[in-house]
Amino acid sequence: YPAPEPPSNHGMTVKPRAIRGMNDILPGVSSTWRYLESEVQDIVRSYGYDEIRLPILEYTELFRRSIGEVTDIVEKEMYTFEDRNGESLTLRPEATASVARAGMTNGLLHNQKQKLWTSGPMFRYEKPQKGRYRQFHQFNVEALGYDGPDIDAELIIMSARMWQRLGIDKIHLEINSLGVPESRARYREALVEYFSGVKNRLDEDSIRRLEQNPLRILDSKNPDMQDIIQAAPVMLDYLDAESAEHFSGLKALLDAAGVKFEVNPRLVRGLDYYSRTVFEWVTDALGSQGAVCSGGRYDGLVEKLGGRSTPAVGWAMGIERFVALYEACGGKAPFTQPDVYIAALGEGTQARAFALAEELRDRIAGIQIEMNLGGGSFKSQMKRADTSFAAYALILGEQELSENRIGLKPLRTGGEQENIALDDLAAVLQEKLSGA
Ligand code: ATP
Ligand code: MG
Repeated sequence: YPAPEPPSNHGMTVKPRAIRGMNDILPGVSSTWRYLESEVQDIVRSYGYDEIRLPILEYTELFRRSIGEVTDIVEKEMYTFEDRNGESLTLRPEATASVARAGMTNGLLHNQKQKLWTSGPMFRYEKPQKGRYRQFHQFNVEALGYDGPDIDAELIIMSARMWQRLGIDKIHLEINSLGVPESRARYREALVEYFSGVKNRLDEDSIRRLEQNPLRILDSKNPDMQDIIQAAPVMLDYLDAESAEHFSGLKALLDAAGVKFEVNPRLVRGLDYYSRTVFEWVTDALGSQGAVCSGGRYDGLVEKLGGRSTPAVGWAMGIERFVALYEACGGKAPFTQPDVYIAALGEGTQARAFALAEELRDRIAGIQIEMNLGGGSFKSQMKRADTSFAAYALILGEQELSENRIGLKPLRTGGEQENIALDDLAAVLQEKLSGA
């Protein structure tokens, strides 16, 4: 006979566990998310960007080719698995590759320009810590078919409007240009030469990248390496004339729009597909996870994936960091409390209370009604009404029901209870709620 299976603690034989670095967004917190997401959506829609919804899985190959083999994401952070068909799939670590893929597979890039936004969860196998998770969320904006620098400026101006609208002030903008592949190749040589000279001070990752992808060394988070990185040659000294002009064009448009920025010649971003403009909105208010919204131009990506050459630019905002920064700047999402709590006492009142609640929902747009559930004495129902933070309690007892009336008690202002004819209830309540 086969031996019995040993008990497993990976499954549910013990207590279920949440996956490390993957958070539930709980009630109370989710309302802040929803508020901020809807504000941001309003803003990007007001600039003419339209939503694209993308699958969370793509063929692994898409990310390897677009993000680049020698990057943190592809080397060590992807959630990759084989599906039942033996094909290698990956939970998306970012959205730009999927947007480019969707543009190609849906024919959205033929003689067309696209201004798109999308949002949702991203997955990276990172070391979980404050502001850095394994499932995190991004809001993305991508514009395909535009050369810039005007669209680069628009994307940045749009993000500046978000901070302003939401009272976020502890944030600053860094920009840089990575040039075109030819000028970057010259810069690459200069970097290899420089880093080879200080090879004994490089960490293991950087030594490996020295030959394959020396630009990535600049993106290292290792504090021991920051001195050598600071002294490295900078891309701006190797920029080709056209990229330099593009960069000046962007700076002039930002100046004219009153958007302050700092040129950070060491900003390279952790993905290979960037060219020309790169930028990052950074805060000091969240500890070391300071990048809140990052983006840049990826003119070569669509072509690299086998499509027609398509200039493109976008940014991605980390929603966890965005929410944290909003709160660190004193932001508080509007708190919605119920307008009405309905207490029902005695024979037949609960069914009538439900019918009344439905009628109020039909007649008063947006009214928020909390129904007393599970019965209870008058005292306990009124206590629940009070802790619900509702503005009014409606009290339906057997006596009221028989007279076709209902008690209306203000809970926050301490006024007197009124006894209102059921026929008048919607009108009276509407007036009170709009007056409040
Ligand atoms: P970092 O430098 O902090 O690792 P990144 O350069 O890897 O960020 P991007 O790939 O540009 O980040 O992603 C865009 C945005 O997504 C970042 O600016 C950040 O706000 C957010 N983000 C990236 N990785 C994570 C993560 N693991 N957890 C939470 N937010 C993240
Ligand atoms: Mg990263």
